[in-house]
Amino acid sequence: TEATLQTIEQREEKIHAFIHVAKEEATKRAEQLDQEASNTRGSLFGVPIGIKDNIVTKDMTTTCASKMLEDFVPVYNATAIDKLEAAGAINMGKLNMDEFAMGSTTETSYFGNTLNPWNTDYVPGGSSGGSAAAVAAGEVPLSLGSDTGGSVRQPAAFCGIVGMKPTYGRISRFGLTAFASSLDQIGTLSRTVEDNALLLSVIAGEDDNDSSSSAKAVPDFTAALTGDINGLKVAVPTPYLGEGVDAEIATAVREAITVLESLGAVCEEVELPHIQYAPTTYYVISSSEAQSNLSRFDGLRYGYHTENAENLEQAYFRTRQEGFGDEVKKRIIFGTYAMSADHHEDLYVRAQKTRTLIAQDFDTVFEKYDVVIGPTTATTAFKLGETGGDQLVHYANDVLAVPANLTGRPALSVPCGFVNELPVGLQIMGKHFDEETLYKVAHAYE
Ligand code: GLN
Repeated sequence: TEATLQTIEQREEKIHAFIHVAKEEATKRAEQLDQEASNTRGSLFGVPIGIKDNIVTKDMTTTCASKMLEDFVPVYNATAIDKLEAAGAINMGKLNMDEFAMGSTTETSYFGNTLNPWNTDYVPGGSSGGSAAAVAAGEVPLSLGSDTGGSVRQPAAFCGIVGMKPTYGRISRFGLTAFASSLDQIGTLSRTVEDNALLLSVIAGEDDNDSSSSAKAVPDFTAALTGDINGLKVAVPTPYLGEGVDAEIATAVREAITVLESLGAVCEEVELPHIQYAPTTYYVISSSEAQSNLSRFDGLRYGYHTENAENLEQAYFRTRQEGFGDEVKKRIIFGTYAMSADHHEDLYVRAQKTRTLIAQDFDTVFEKYDVVIGPTTATTAFKLGETGGDQLVHYANDVLAVPANLTGRPALSVPCGFVNELPVGLQIMGKHFDEETLYKVAHAYE
């Protein structure tokens, strides 16, 4: 723990992955663990981990990288945090992110940018940018992020590490600050596939506090790492290597396909007729759910409260005006419009129908194939300040990322080379609750 704290202190100057380094808490925890008998030690005994700052931690600030929650200290732990503690992991602190997980660069954080450890002129991706950068910089071997529309996989790809978004319901969302409840999942980040599989084995499972968590048994995911993918059926959607995806990234993914084939996998191209609607569908649904979820930040129950109000209405209004950043406001305004009496048929209801069509496209593919692969992102990391927070720039990436969330399927990003000295990610998507196959393929490829 001491060595980890030293490394964090040295590297934070350059990377700024943490919002809060839990120096005292971690030291105290390590001392407690020291007293523990060796026969009761959990599978993550003494292992340092970092936590995205939208996952609640008892007695430790949880800001969601927002002014709204700058001083918010939760009174309970997320279920995933309880499970980590039970397994003996040591929480080294809270990691930077886009405000309320809305963004793709970590630039919308109220606490400033995180930088990409491979080249500090570039962003680490987002919204779990701190989670990816902390692992890539060697500050912690493991971290938790959250993935509503790619926010674990995209930063993992930009930072050259492994990032898993499990099946919807695999990990309890109790204590994960809700962005879009039908899409959100906690995800796991690590340097190797094996570490990732171990971490997921610890935090997955049914939870009485989250009725959408699954009762499916949680296997030991590390047991799936056999290296044997002979005969595996792999689908490569034609659009995933076509227009909008950088040619060099497509080349890196084609090389990865050759590697999988040399290991005995059978790779074939498939079509996904409705895939071009995925980003629009995602933004309508995620913003509609977000405007509802974020209505709880009213200045009375949590966090920031304006000092400039003469009556209750002004208090609500100014708290939200002063407490939320621009990107969050944009989503709330758009979501409110999409759910309004005059427009919800055209926007929200239509997006739900499109979501079903996209899900059917994937159902058809998965009748014949074990996994779907492609690039995790269409480009390598963006230069700091380059995208100006403009979500439209991110559409080509969202086409690759959001289908896993819209369909509730698991998807993982594993490093697959470099373009101009920046990492590239290979995305592997699987059948519901078949994280084992994803780990198996990624491990065989790694
Ligand atoms: N880029 C997506 C967005 O801004 C991803 C968000 C996420 O997965 N949390 O909404």
